[in-house]
Amino acid sequence: MSNNTRITQRDLRHVWHPCTQMKDHEQLPLIPIRRGAGVWLEDYDGNRYIDAVSSWWVNLFGHANPRINAALRDQLEQLEHVILAGFTHEPVVRLSERLVKITPEGLDHCFYADNGSSAVEVALKMSFHYWRNVGNRKKTRFVCLSNSYHGETLGALAVGDVALYKETYEPLLLQAITVPGPDCYHREPGQSCAEHARVMFEHMERTLAEQGEEICAVIVEPLVQCAGTMRMYDPEYLRLLRAACDSYGVHLIADEIAVGFGRTGTLFACEQADISPDFMCLSKGLTGGYLPLSVTLTTGKVYEAFYDEYTNLTAFLHSHSYTGNPLACTAANATLDIFEQDNVIENNRRLAQVMKEATAHLNDHPHVAEVRQTGMILAVELVKDKATREPFPWQERRGLRIYQHALANQALLRPLGHVSYLMPPYVIDEEQIHHLAKVMHEGIDLACVD
Ligand code: PMP
Repeated sequence: MSNNTRITQRDLRHVWHPCTQMKDHEQLPLIPIRRGAGVWLEDYDGNRYIDAVSSWWVNLFGHANPRINAALRDQLEQLEHVILAGFTHEPVVRLSERLVKITPEGLDHCFYADNGSSAVEVALKMSFHYWRNVGNRKKTRFVCLSNSYHGETLGALAVGDVALYKETYEPLLLQAITVPGPDCYHREPGQSCAEHARVMFEHMERTLAEQGEEICAVIVEPLVQCAGTMRMYDPEYLRLLRAACDSYGVHLIADEIAVGFGRTGTLFACEQADISPDFMCLSKGLTGGYLPLSVTLTTGKVYEAFYDEYTNLTAFLHSHSYTGNPLACTAANATLDIFEQDNVIENNRRLAQVMKEATAHLNDHPHVAEVRQTGMILAVELVKDKATREPFPWQERRGLRIYQHALANQALLRPLGHVSYLMPPYVIDEEQIHHLAKVMHEGIDLACVD
């Protein structure tokens, strides 16, 4: 029996894996990873895989990064964790100072949690609670975009629109208002993404005009709807949305959990629209992909609405045990050090260009409807019929064939339905990108034969 099999047999007796139909593992081998280095993951039988999906979009500077490792080792000798209510520590103070400096203007206060969904819950609760604290009890609703995804906890799920994750739980969820979004895949032939964004914004404008008085906030994933199969849209939509939220007195929540920290080509996606949201949620790349941590940043105006005598009961009493964990904050500070010391965003521009060139030929593939890219995120949409864009039936799970082919060829390319994508750590090199593109192309060929 191989070393891999020995571990996976033990695993399958007791571990229930995320986002998985466990019965699949009767056919599909689970891969136990012994170690990582840079873009590489290595299993217990010595097989290696390039982590093209950054381990669910978290890893920025490679596995076992020496600089982050060193910072964590130091911190481990000092303090592993302390309650953040009534107490504080230098890593969280330093991280907050730095986040305020690098995020869009006006985001001055940092509220921590330990995963992305919780950061979204914090933003939703804080927005609702703000309106109550300022005496407005009419605002109880949230607006989200079609095809959006903001996490799996009940509040975050309620403001999402990916049926696969949401439908089953619908009876449990608060009723969000879902507005048709600016997804550029659906533009008319000859239309630019900016024009499409302007046309689609009319739905949002109408919703805010008609229901603004009962709406707390609009929540969006700026520029790329990642879990919604990497659908992309023009920054024009965010500019229009910021202006409309201001004129109708509604908060704007930017969920940059997936797109933050350079994924879209700028440090934060909001920069490309030159806007500041009222709340910004960050997680994933925040710690370079090392430890669970999230933060919801907000403005002085929101913070002030909670700041009062205790007995007035206006405080935000939300908490998680591991809020602002010092080890996680240290990993985050070490990650920001790398952004400061290396020319990350500029280097990424070159890598993004390589990704584009390496996959350009896929545009001509008879089953590829679109190759789209925003910065370091590149996605390839497979369809049954290129002319009509009729998708393959989802039951055929053709993306899975790409995944299996990739695993046999040193690559972790986990697709989203019939969309195969690259979202690699920023330490990837040109040769590795070309290898991924080749494996992806072969995988797509295999996935599309009947
Ligand atoms: N928002 C977005 C945009 C995400 O992509 C995700 C995770 N994929 C989340 C929220 C939820 O984060 P977590 O998985 O850490 O709860």
